[in-house]
Amino acid sequence: MHIQHHPLLSPSLGTQRALTSFHFGQPGSGEKVHIQASLHADELPGMLVAWHLKQRLRLLEDQGAIRGEITVLPVSNPIGLDQNQNGRLLGRFEQMSGQNFNRHYHPMAEPVFAALRHRLGPDAKTNTRLIREAMRAELARQRPQTELQSLRHTLHSMAFDADIMLDLHCDSRADLHLYTGTPLWDQCEPLARYLGACASLLAEDSGDYPFDEACSQPWWQLRELASRAGLATPIEMACLAVTVELRGEWDVDHEYAAKDADAILHFLQRRGVISGDAPALPPLRYPATPLAGSEDLLAPHAGVVVYRAEPGSLLSPGDLVADVIDPVNDVASQVCTEHGGVLYATSDRPYATAGLGIARVAGNTAYKTGKLLTA
Ligand SMILES: [Zn+2]
Repeated sequence: MHIQHHPLLSPSLGTQRALTSFHFGQPGSGEKVHIQASLHADELPGMLVAWHLKQRLRLLEDQGAIRGEITVLPVSNPIGLDQNQNGRLLGRFEQMSGQNFNRHYHPMAEPVFAALRHRLGPDAKTNTRLIREAMRAELARQRPQTELQSLRHTLHSMAFDADIMLDLHCDSRADLHLYTGTPLWDQCEPLARYLGACASLLAEDSGDYPFDEACSQPWWQLRELASRAGLATPIEMACLAVTVELRGEWDVDHEYAAKDADAILHFLQRRGVISGDAPALPPLRYPATPLAGSEDLLAPHAGVVVYRAEPGSLLSPGDLVADVIDPVNDVASQVCTEHGGVLYATSDRPYATAGLGIARVAGNTAYKTGKLLTA
């Protein structure tokens, strides 16, 4: 294992933060894997999984079992980790700008295509190498002006050329689920099985450039740009980027973390990054569904929320998910799913303001357009 420190731009006199990455195996000896945790700094289950992974990867490296390069970044967001208000950690949005730490990564398809359109050829592997070189050059041209931009740029620069990128998050209160690119589902499906994901949500463009799409989306966008330009040039889906939602914020637990770390290692074994035979694939809990088919259930008015279904439940259209009680006006409303599917996440607070999203259900029919992620 070797350790690298990545200083971030100093936001203020006397203050400078840094990222610390842990590297296992040898660059160039196989696939490159980048695993980062807690980009939303108040989502801690991934940080614990990263710690479990580090212990196991040290042993695997001593045994000579790593056939590639695996980078683990347990603390991806030291800015957010240092934002506390009235004793509560606020790690989703940067307080200085109000921006979500997992949005607005640098879009690369167009500049990379402009640089390469006359150089892409008939060999997919050569194209992948050229595309990665152009991406590296494009990122090197960026000049972050703020600490937040510097964080995004540093993370992106570490992960853009990974064959596999896992961004470990969690939801408010949830069963394990994941987000990935529609063109990546074949590659991702074994991971969903090993992790026991209750839902796998697919999109080609969720909106606002979250980190996983910053790594993976350029590949299908480049394929599209090449096709529109009439180039018969093969472009691989060279980065499997997945946002893994490790249940809810309070599911910080050694048993879960050890199980999730094992699942990730089994997947890497299956990909050949770790030697040995991977265990047989468990069944897929639920087929992948379009992110555009994810139903947001809203509180019809303010009130106390009483959940009547647990995350992970399979629901039919019309099934009851929660009661919202207004004890002042004696109104008790039932919030039901219209489309049905898997209830994969709910709010973690038993009080709703009017119109608040209190639950999400993965349905199998896409019906939404525009931006698909919550703020
Ligand atoms: Zn998150």
